[in-house]
Parts: sequence; C-alpha cells; structure tokens
Amino acid sequence: MRLYPTRGKKPESPESVPFSEAILSPAADFGGLYAPSELPLLDITALKSLLPLDYKALAKDLLGRLATDLHESLIDEALACYDRFDDPANPVPVKRLNDRLYVSELWHGPTRAFKDMALQPFGVILSALAKQRGEEYLILAATSGDTGPAALKSFENRPGTRVVCLYPDGGTSDVQRLQMVTFDAPNLKVLGIHGDFDDAQQALKSLLSSERFKAKLKESHIHLSAANSVNFGRILFQILYHFHSYLQMVRLGEIDLGERLDVVVPSGNFGNALGAYYALKMGLPLGKIIIASNDNNVLTDLLTTGRYDLNKRRLIKTSSPAMDILKSSNVERILFDLFGPDRTRELMERLSETGSYQLSEEELEALRSLFDAAWSNQKEVSNAIREMARRGYVMDPHTATCLKAADLSQSKRCVIYGTAEWTKFSPMVLSAISSGERVEDKEALKAIAQRYSVPIPTSIEALFSQRCCHETVIDKRAIEEAVGAFVAP
Ligand SMILES: *Cc1c(COP(=O)(O)O)cnc(C)c1O
Repeated sequence: MRLYPTRGKKPESPESVPFSEAILSPAADFGGLYAPSELPLLDITALKSLLPLDYKALAKDLLGRLATDLHESLIDEALACYDRFDDPANPVPVKRLNDRLYVSELWHGPTRAFKDMALQPFGVILSALAKQRGEEYLILAATSGDTGPAALKSFENRPGTRVVCLYPDGGTSDVQRLQMVTFDAPNLKVLGIHGDFDDAQQALKSLLSSERFKAKLKESHIHLSAANSVNFGRILFQILYHFHSYLQMVRLGEIDLGERLDVVVPSGNFGNALGAYYALKMGLPLGKIIIASNDNNVLTDLLTTGRYDLNKRRLIKTSSPAMDILKSSNVERILFDLFGPDRTRELMERLSETGSYQLSEEELEALRSLFDAAWSNQKEVSNAIREMARRGYVMDPHTATCLKAADLSQSKRCVIYGTAEWTKFSPMVLSAISSGERVEDKEALKAIAQRYSVPIPTSIEALFSQRCCHETVIDKRAIEEAVGAFVAP
C-alpha cells in the first residue's frame, strides 16, 4: 500500500509514501492528507472465505491484503487490543432492532465509543515505529469528546510518545471530560480551550504545518504526529469493521452473501464513512452509504446539493457533540479518490479562501451514486431515543441520528452504526426518555441502569471518585505556547 498526497506534491517531495511514513507524518504538501489510490479487490469467493473468521482473524486477513509495510508481529500486537473489549471473540456485536434495522455496536472498547476501534491499535503501532527508529513523538489530538479519551488510553505510559489533547471546554459531556482530565501519566497532557471543536481542530492543523513550531520541537529531537482521523493510520482500522458487520449479517442469516446492504453512519469528520467507502471499493457489497448528521448539517447539504458552504453557518452545540463539526476533514479523501489531486486542491483552496465550494453536476452525481444523507434535529434525536428505549434498547444521541436517515434506505435490511455507549451521555438520554427530567451524570446513569436493566461499566463508574489531574483551560491563541512548555520546557 502506498499513500498519495490529496492535493498533489511539491517537486522535491516523493510521489507516494509507505503506510509507516504516513502514520508518523500525516501532513502532506499544500495542507493535504495522505490517501491510497488503489485498494485490493475481493470477489465473492474471497468474501466467502472470510465468513468463518473472528474479528481479529478477519482484520489480519484484510490488513495482509492491504499490504502495509508493518511487520506481521506488530500487526498481531496491535490487534491484541481487541482482547480488552467486552467480548474478545466478538468485539463488535450486531443486534437486531426491528424487522429491517440492525445496529452494529462499535463501542465495546475501553472508553465506550467507536474511536477505540482504531485508536487502540493505532497507539501500539505508532509507539512501536517510534521505538524502531529511536525517535520521540508528540501526538496531537483535537477532540469533541471521544478521540481524546481513546487516544490518551492508547498512549498512556507508552515509551517514545507524548500526547497533548485539546478539547473545547464545555463542549463535551461530563463523563467525556472526566475520561480525559483524570488520566495520570507523565506523557499525557490535557488542555481545555475556550472555543469549539473546529477551533481545536484548526489549532491542531496549524501546529502540524507550522515550520516555527516544528523547528522548536526539532531542537528537542521531537517529531510531530496527529491522532485525529487526518491520520490515515486510523482510517486503516476503520475499513475492517464494515467487513465484519456485513459478514455478521450474513452469519446471522439476515442477508445472503453478495446481497446489497445499506449502512447508516453517524458522521462528523467522515472517518467512519470513509472506511465504508474504501470497504465498498474493495468489493464489499454495500448499497448506499447513508450519512446521518445533526443540526450541523453541512454533509447533508453537500450530498444533496453539491455545495459545501461554511458561510452563514455557525457551529451549533447539540446533544451529539462528536458530530458538531463543520469542517469535515475526510471529505477531502473522497474528493481525491473521485476527482483527483488537482481538483481536490482547487476545491479545498476555494473552501479556505471563500468559505464554500460547489461541485459540478457530474461530480454531485458521482457522489450521490455512493452516498445519501439526512440530518436530525435535537427533537428528532430525543424522540428516536425515547422510541427505542420503549422497545428496550437504550441508544446514545449520536447513534440516534441514524433512525431518520435509515428511512432513506431501500435495501431489505439496513445496518446503522452505534458509535457510543449511552453511558457517555446519560443526562441527555434520561431527559429524552422521561420528558425533560434533568439530573447529573451520576444519578442519570443509575436511573437508566435500573429502569432498563443495562450495566454501567466499572470504568465509567470509577470516574466519579478519581482525582482531576488536568485543570488547565486556555485561550486558543495560547495553545502553541502551552504545548511547547509541556514538550520542551
Ligand atoms: C467521532 C464520532 C462520530 C463521528 O465519526 P466521524 O468518523 O468523525 O465521522 C460519531 N459518533 C461518535 C460517538 C463519535 O465519537
């Protein structure tokens, strides 16, 4: 597997880089990302051969076909992270919601959100590569609440790595914040910023491309990388579970092998949906990839009108904060794959200069042959949670955006992705279920667990008695200085 810069390359840069290079240095020329241009194709016989495999064996088979430059033993070590999920034999259970709808639960990892699917193996790999090269890495993560805890967990006490995690103060749930600020390891730093997630992500992107900052790090022999889904190292692991979910539907007898299956993906930065797109390209018989959004519905607009427009938009804080995103980074990799690097650069430059771009009619058609999209407002999200709870399934607000979007599906069966456990957002979930009742996390967790006989993981319960180790909340202009002080005091 070789990875190509999405906005083209400068004359002095290589045509493409191997996987290990892209994971260590995720920023490509002209502010672009790295993306594959060819992927292995699996025919129906190959898919059939995957049916008997459990998650780890499936992942290993697919990663082998994807031919990264990672040593086999490192891949084994990375995949061992799924042993720490609720059920190591099946870390991603697929459950039936009704005659037509199924949910693929991606949140059974240590931090109770789907970010664990990719970030847990990612930490193992990045730290091993750093060690092999005798290098020291600073990994930056901007989070709206789920990337942070998963990245911190993944890199906790790992040699050769330090993590700085930026989160928007007030923009995460209480449990999400506690999952970050209670981490007590010398290589981890958590910084709250006054601003929203886009501000945090913007700060991260400008640090990644700042020559001055990189020079300062270089003096201390530290290299810079990122744990956001701008890093292809994460996307790689997000291809795998789409195969698993599809095959699981076949194993359950719900679809025949080869039958088209629509999937609904609650989306923000588009990493999860991009994984589905690559899986489809690799021959997985997906039907439409349906993008579910909340009130921050830029993606719905893009996929229905061909226009990406940030003007006249402000970020709206919703009950699904991981989807409160306007600059959806991974759309760029789709543009690159469909329209090539020159057009991608043109569109992305237009977006940063004028705040919008418009696809041509043919381009929109190409997108619409693959994707569809719908968004839910907060009332619809609450209603969906209440309705599902009435039928005995407690759902988190991100996953709940899928229910309305699933109406767009025309396949006999449809899989929605469960991206977080309800325990991360219990006050909101309780308020949706019991019309407006508002209590703190601790009480809401208990109330829901009792009413619906659902367990609270001990890792969540324990948060409330742990010490807060990271109190700092700073202005976004002070980020570079604060990060510098942590890594090179
Ligand atoms: C990150 C996240 C999303 C959005 O996923 P993207 O890959 O960024 O589109 C949705 N739901 C939850 C709970 C998340 O943590």
